Amino acid sequence: MDQRSTIVQGIGVSPGIAIGKAHLFERGLIPIPYHKLLGEEAVDEDCRRFNAAVDKTDADLEAIKQNIHPDLKEHAHVLEVHQMILRDRSLYDETLRLIREEKYNALWALMRALVKAHELFRSLDDEYIRSRVADVDAVAERVLRNLAGQEEENFNSIRERVVVVAHDLSPADTAQLQLERTLGLVTDMGGRTSHTSILARSLGIPAVVGTESITNCLQTGDLLIVDGTSGKVIVNPSEKQIGFYYERQEELEEYIKGISRKAHLPAQTVDEYRVGVEANIELIEEVVGVKDNGAEGIGLYRTEFFFMNRVDVPDEETLFSEYRELSELMAPQCVTMRTLDLGSEKLATWYPKLHENNPALGLRSIRLCLHYRELFKTQLRAILRATAFARNIRLMFPLVSGVGELREAKQVLREVQEELTAQRIPFDEQMPLGVMIEVPSAVAVADLLAKEVDFFSIGTNDLIQYSLAIDRVNEHIAYLYEPLHPAVLRFIRQTVDAAHKAKIRVSICGEMAGESLYVPILLGLQLDSLSMNPQSIPRVKNLICRSKMRECRRFVAKVLQMSTAEEISAVLQEMVVKTFPEEFKVFDPSTLTIDESNSYKRKKRMKNKVRKSEETS
Ligand code: PEP
Ligand code: MG
Repeated sequence: MDQRSTIVQGIGVSPGIAIGKAHLFERGLIPIPYHKLLGEEAVDEDCRRFNAAVDKTDADLEAIKQNIHPDLKEHAHVLEVHQMILRDRSLYDETLRLIREEKYNALWALMRALVKAHELFRSLDDEYIRSRVADVDAVAERVLRNLAGQEEENFNSIRERVVVVAHDLSPADTAQLQLERTLGLVTDMGGRTSHTSILARSLGIPAVVGTESITNCLQTGDLLIVDGTSGKVIVNPSEKQIGFYYERQEELEEYIKGISRKAHLPAQTVDEYRVGVEANIELIEEVVGVKDNGAEGIGLYRTEFFFMNRVDVPDEETLFSEYRELSELMAPQCVTMRTLDLGSEKLATWYPKLHENNPALGLRSIRLCLHYRELFKTQLRAILRATAFARNIRLMFPLVSGVGELREAKQVLREVQEELTAQRIPFDEQMPLGVMIEVPSAVAVADLLAKEVDFFSIGTNDLIQYSLAIDRVNEHIAYLYEPLHPAVLRFIRQTVDAAHKAKIRVSICGEMAGESLYVPILLGLQLDSLSMNPQSIPRVKNLICRSKMRECRRFVAKVLQMSTAEEISAVLQEMVVKTFPEEFKVFDPSTLTIDESNSYKRKKRMKNKVRKSEETS
């Protein structure tokens, strides 16, 4: 029997294989009639209807929040953001204005307000802000639906275990997911840092996002295979494909189960070289995953995410209680808190709207903090106050370009410490201070920076971007995003040498650290610690425990003589397949992902990627 299957390529954001029926999460079109309101009474009536729809939406969101699945409790704050957007000026006030002044009917007025909000977001010309417009859309759609009297589809109708497929999933949607019935997640939209991806990873649900068009290729009930590692989704697979993926699923589960049992052991090479393995987190709710996967601490807490997921700037007390809670949850293990790394693609709704030609080279990160001193000081005060309890917090400054900038940041830190001392507010005076090495100039003066701090953490995501002069989120030049570029490897080597000469520890917290493919290289480069996505920890630890440091050093010495990333990649792939056959039998080294940009790389390769394949089963 011949069977047609469709293979769709997206971004694998949460590893694992799901095989099951699709549940297409569809929202039917809402009819938006247009007419002008005649007379004050009609205007009043539509204002009243609009307000009633807003109130109902508010109540719906509140109900979702109250009944949220226990595993998703911490995601409730996103629903609060949606409740705030409900009465935001650009949506709420503008709709009422259009009803009153332009005499538009309520549905049309809200739609117009939404279009205007889109124009505003679009004009900012920033990818991160553009992605935040999805929250406004989600809220507006709920109000539109309530205005039109349409019942919203929800997940309660799902009676069996399914792969949830959607154009996009808003935080309110994901909050309603029935986890025990969700085998996998697939969306048209989204990237590695989208809410669905973060959630899927923290819950261990295989997920593929950014497929662009999967919702056009299937209907509810179609059989699906989701490969959350390679980002491949097969619609209506052949029996041969099903058999193949069931075997892979079993292999993968067995493999992960096997290595997870040992994830709590220290990462030590066969020749007894000890390497720290820590976790990167964006939000406090990831701590469970951090512990479950055997992390030895938090090597990078991206504090800016707490600032980004909200409509206002959090005050000192809010920050302090968040930081104290995290520190106490992780104690006695360390928490490395990176000060605000806002700007460039990471923007918050409340962030001043700057018009920069090159935002990645603009007012971002430590520069932004030194510019907006009060914002910086508020965060530093909250962090320092939180250090007084479990005394396990380390602090690091991102994107430092040289000693002058570092000293300026240290001066602000000293001022805050003096203020706290004067106020008799306790803090940990021994708190280690580190600097992220993400800019080529920082590598060049790493010996000087090392004299000023207690540790280094190499941020390869940015170091690659700035070393190779490629925007890490620009798909047109993504093929140049090469972690194995000889310049990048030399920069890492130089940084490690400078740190070790000054007798300070050096870790790596870019996405490279969590990729099993790079383990031999990172070991050979003598990093003291690797910090990564919690889900990657068992795999990376396993490979470290099976490596020989002497061999890795020899391998790196050879690699550092090579001229191109392609040459290095070829010998590396050959080496890992030979040394770790089990790992690279289940995870194909050529499909491994590195950061957001690699998904672009894959996307580029897979242009016109929806392809039909005929298979004979
Ligand atoms: C990095 O640049 O490698 C890093 C860890 O920071 P971020 O990805 O948050 O910029
Ligand atoms: Mg960075």
